[in-house]
Amino acid sequence: MIVNCRRFTELLTDASEGKVASWEESHFAEHARLCGACRKYARDFDKVVHLLRDLPKEPAPEGLKSALLERFKSRR
Ligand SMILES: [Zn+2]
Repeated sequence: MIVNCRRFTELLTDASEGKVASWEESHFAEHARLCGACRKYARDFDKVVHLLRDLPKEPAPEGLKSALLERFKSRR
């Protein structure tokens, strides 16, 4: 299965929830290696995820991740 940019953003979200299979992870890593836009996106996404983890008392802002995904998609 080919990981395109759209799939990459989905995997990124799933990965933050620990839902990515190991075979998917290798495709995911390969796409990040080849695609600068997704590499940058992953970096930004990572910051947000870590930020959220540092705020355990906050309710999980479900809308935030999808908002990020929308912003990413709208750039294409
Ligand atoms: Zn990409």
